[in-house]
Amino acid sequence: MGEAHTFVRAYIGLGSNLGDPPAQLRSAVEALAQLPGSRLTAVSRFYRSSPMGPGDQPDYLNAVAMLDTTLEPLALLDALQAIEQQQGRVRSGERWGPRTLDLDLLLYGAEEIDLPRLRVPHPGMRERNFVLVPLAELAPELHFPDGCSVREALDQVLPGSLEPVSSGRDATDAS
Ligand code: ATP
Ligand code: MG
Ligand code: MG
Repeated sequence: MGEAHTFVRAYIGLGSNLGDPPAQLRSAVEALAQLPGSRLTAVSRFYRSSPMGPGDQPDYLNAVAMLDTTLEPLALLDALQAIEQQQGRVRSGERWGPRTLDLDLLLYGAEEIDLPRLRVPHPGMRERNFVLVPLAELAPELHFPDGCSVREALDQVLPGSLEPVSSGRDATDAS
């Protein structure tokens, strides 16, 4: 009890296509920076992407954040879902339908997790250029638990409409 906890490096995918997406992502970044036992260490640029799900919805804005955290995986998921709720996420039941904010836990160190509520690495991430491109901006040499690097995954992903719309910020301002 009371010992120092080890920080694990986690990556979080952010997405929004309702309710002023740039403001939603900025607000989510601020909320991530406030998480207990955690340090927000970098945020990618924001990218505009075409919707992956039902087509009659607005374009998305996507980004990836790097978070060094002492939170356990399920506690981190709880925290991410609380932020989604705070920013007005309504779960309509429609898969991949429009939303104010989606926060997905992409990677948690090198851990592989297969629980009903939480699968890590995030199952869809290697087919999604709107995840891999911002992730590669932060960590191109990062490897998935199976040994594949982010850069290699990016070389294999199908191209999709994606354009950077803003510079992110380095939360540590270490540059
Ligand atoms: P996708 O996960 O394909 O990107 P989505 O983000 O739209 O779809 P949500 O409605 O946000 O899906 O989440 C559905 C459920 O997925 C959540 O209730 C959550 O428990 C579960 N889930 C499983 N693995 C993860 C993960 N790595 N990150 C976030 N949620 C996850
Ligand atoms: Mg998602
Ligand atoms: Mg989600």
